[in-house]
Amino acid sequence: MAAPVPIAHDVASLRAQLSAWRAAGETIVLVPTMGALHAGHVSLVHAGKSHGTKIVMSIFVNPTQFAPTEDLSTYPRSLEADVAKFTEAGGDLVFVPSVDVMYPQGFATTISLAGPATVGLEDRFRPTHFAGVATVVAKLFNQCRPDAAVFGEKDYQQLKVLTCLARDLDFETKIVAAPIMREADGLALSSRNVYLSAEERLHAPALYRALTKCAEAIKTRQPVEAALEEARIAIAGAGFAIDYVEARHAETLASLDQLAGAPVRLLAAARIGKTRLIDNIAV
Ligand code: AMP
Repeated sequence: MAAPVPIAHDVASLRAQLSAWRAAGETIVLVPTMGALHAGHVSLVHAGKSHGTKIVMSIFVNPTQFAPTEDLSTYPRSLEADVAKFTEAGGDLVFVPSVDVMYPQGFATTISLAGPATVGLEDRFRPTHFAGVATVVAKLFNQCRPDAAVFGEKDYQQLKVLTCLARDLDFETKIVAAPIMREADGLALSSRNVYLSAEERLHAPALYRALTKCAEAIKTRQPVEAALEEARIAIAGAGFAIDYVEARHAETLASLDQLAGAPVRLLAAARIGKTRLIDNIAV
């Protein structure tokens, strides 16, 4: 087995390594994560290889994107196994900052968002979430100055928020989107799937099944609202409490009322037991 890749714990040692690589003509790709790696994260590493020569993964469970009621303290953490998986995937460096490194005493700046961050999807249920995500990603971009950064379509609204952030604040980093990796039964891979009981795990793929069926219905020109209602009934019937099941403009995430002919994305969030799952699909 290959020796584990080096780990940088602070910004100075991260920058020292990245400067040396840049001086040698390497290009840097960043894959931001919260760890507890699964095959979805590994797919981002592979996707990154077409966009640069050195892959850096950040692993940081970012407290500012969790609400006080959420699972910050119980979020799964597995650094040693993560480093092994990242090494195996052919990554080059892991950046694991502490909370003090990212938010030292006196930290007082937050990025304020509109556009895709305020469309009434995740933001309706997690009102402080995207400000936390955008602020930490902006910090990571300044710390790493990557040529490209890879994000999963799994967090589709996040992808659109960060694409907007990079454009609006003139980051030179190219935002790369990677497709959703799923279990054989369709359940989107997520670090939070470990929270599911055996019974809940059995019912969890209903979310994706309902979205798939809904997308098919819309493609065959059935009325969108009726197709969504059918999906909501199927998802609730599988034991989920629904936060939202919506059809939106695939780029702006705006409501579809006056957007006939626009590219459509179906997005859903629902809770099964104590676990909140999100998923989305192109139409
Ligand atoms: P997280 O560790 O959950 O913050 O996710 C880190 C990155 O991995 C984000 O860009 C996610 O969208 C992406 N990701 C998470 N799950 C998947 C998946 N099943 N397929 C593809 N990308 C994913």
